[in-house]
Amino acid sequence: MPVSKPKTAKKTVSPQARLAKLGLHTDMDLVLHLPMRYEDETQIVTIREACLHGGESSQVEGVVVKNEIAYKPRRQLLVHIADETGDLQLRFMNFYGSQVKQLAEGTRVRARGELKHGFFGAEMVHPTYKVVNEGAPLPTSLTPVYPAGEGLSQPVLRRAIGDAMKRVDWTDTLPAELIDSMRLTNFEPAVKLLHSPPQQVDEHALADRSHPAWVRMKFDELLAQQLSLKRAQRARRAKGAAALKVVGDLSARFEAALPFKLTGAQQRVLNEIRADLRHPYPMQRLLQGDVGSGKTVVSALAATQAIDSGFQAALMAPTEILADQHFRKIAAWLEPLGVKVAWLTGSLKKKDKLAATALIESGEAQLVIGTHALIQDGVNFANLGLVIVDEQHRFGVGQRLTLRNKGNEGAIPHQLMMSATPIPRTLAMTYYADLEVSVIDELPPGRSPIVTRAVDQNRRDEVIARVHAAALEGRQIYWVCPLIEESEALQLQTATDTHALLAEALPDLNVGLVHGRLKPAEKQEVMDAFSAGQMHVLVATTVIEVGVDVPNASLMVIEHAERFGLSQLHQLRGRVGRGSAASVCLLLYQSPLGGVARQRLMTMRETTDGFEIARRDLEIRGPGEFLGARQSGQAMLRFADLETDGWLVDQARDVAHELLHTPEKAATVEAHLARWLGGREEFLKV
Ligand code: ADP
Ligand code: MG
Repeated sequence: MPVSKPKTAKKTVSPQARLAKLGLHTDMDLVLHLPMRYEDETQIVTIREACLHGGESSQVEGVVVKNEIAYKPRRQLLVHIADETGDLQLRFMNFYGSQVKQLAEGTRVRARGELKHGFFGAEMVHPTYKVVNEGAPLPTSLTPVYPAGEGLSQPVLRRAIGDAMKRVDWTDTLPAELIDSMRLTNFEPAVKLLHSPPQQVDEHALADRSHPAWVRMKFDELLAQQLSLKRAQRARRAKGAAALKVVGDLSARFEAALPFKLTGAQQRVLNEIRADLRHPYPMQRLLQGDVGSGKTVVSALAATQAIDSGFQAALMAPTEILADQHFRKIAAWLEPLGVKVAWLTGSLKKKDKLAATALIESGEAQLVIGTHALIQDGVNFANLGLVIVDEQHRFGVGQRLTLRNKGNEGAIPHQLMMSATPIPRTLAMTYYADLEVSVIDELPPGRSPIVTRAVDQNRRDEVIARVHAAALEGRQIYWVCPLIEESEALQLQTATDTHALLAEALPDLNVGLVHGRLKPAEKQEVMDAFSAGQMHVLVATTVIEVGVDVPNASLMVIEHAERFGLSQLHQLRGRVGRGSAASVCLLLYQSPLGGVARQRLMTMRETTDGFEIARRDLEIRGPGEFLGARQSGQAMLRFADLETDGWLVDQARDVAHELLHTPEKAATVEAHLARWLGGREEFLKV
């Protein structure tokens, strides 16, 4: 068998192309490509010493005494090296023919890796190594390890970065006064230290990125982000919007006709929204309120302001069930007052769809409620003044933008986004620097608290008995089927099985089933029967997670609760506790529970406060996952960590504000953005 494989006709990719793939286009990009960690190659230990500290990473130096290719259990290169204290095997599973030659007997090598005591004695598997001459000097600084891509080796990256460092303009982009007053490290020494930290550096501070050099990088990065977001905000404000000035007859009649009085919190956020809508530039406001806090009515009141002012409003919801529920509720409120409400979803028959789009286009429809069908081509509004997006985190940025772009030329509609998923403040500030936030922090009166219990799955029979008893008391029950992420088909199967089982176990009750695969009309039928109280138990998949509002439902069972995330459990639980009856949520779990799952269930038992739950969720999961990595501000941050660097976000925001309001600092702003964002600013504009 040949020692080296014949060269295959691989396309040769230039190092430039490989660097570009990592987003490294300019010299400054390279200079700001900072190490993710370091290796200490400043010291050598004897092989004997290394063996004493098995399991740790260490660097040894020795001469190759044996070099062989073994075939058991698979082809691998085994190189034995020795110094005066002992010997050691280096094992390479993947290797090139050139390596076999390079590590010929008699060669002196420095090898670094984790030492293991294997079957054949001490060995390092896939060590990093270097061929050296006797007495070759050791490096005096830590060796950086860079994030690398396919086909890019550390030495190639190191060289490219080293070359770039010789060419870039090191001028500090921050004014000296600012650096002084914030006690920041200067740019050049900070960057240079991070690329080659001196031996005596505080390695711990480097590793956890609390070192002043890291702080400077994080601050610069956050400042660039804040500057960019604030500029986008200005650009948005510079665009006009229709000023929705009239809170008139319709709004007044609607408020008077409501069967309840707005809570103080609802009134407060409504005032905030009303003030925004009067402006001749577009509102961009997030309405946050825990599940059941009554966001819908506030959004309907905002819609009446648009209608009173002679404009259309549109409400987009992420699912048909939710859109339908909004339509029924809001149409029941507003149609008696003479408002024309149109309904548009993907499942409409072609004829009905055409009729709806005609109403929208002529302006006859004053309020349009629907799913993402609203943002499709061919849906043209006559004069869209306000866009409302419910459960906004369910939509992508692009979808929200498309709806916003359905306004008249030259003006963009006001935008009200609603979410029950509270976003921690630092995250809101980085992801949404461009967003005003209103919070409903009070539930409507008369709600009784939900009691939550975790119950072992093996007590399922007791739970079924409890469901039976509750139904006989006239209560309605949700039974949520386990989440099976890997397979939708399996999920469906489980739902069907669960339904069959419960129907059999509860023969005197009416047990229904709703899942994502039902046709919209079928879904509707089930939901209607449940809402009307004709059905005792509703077996459901997570399709009921968002928005569903049936106040008489007061018991919820969630099977395999350990598979759900915290915010999902909170959303699901929010379907009960909407009426005056005391509500109960039973979280069935399969033991043994893992650590994270246990923490989640404990949190659910301890609190029903959505903000507290979000805070713990952040603690358990970290912010990257919190909004989905692609959506989060964190995704655009390479160095700063929103969880630990909140204080820096605050400072960056203040400094950005000041710089943008000082005309003489315009050049500073440009230089800083150019350095940190280069061509990527567009990315932040949404
Ligand atoms: P969410 O904020 O989760 O979207 P909803 O808007 O669905 O909540 O409101 C939950 C329930 O509370 C609905 O049945 C709604 O009609 C009712 N509601 C809203 N505001 C009040 C209020 N001020 N007083 C009493 N009930 C209210
Ligand atoms: Mg809602």
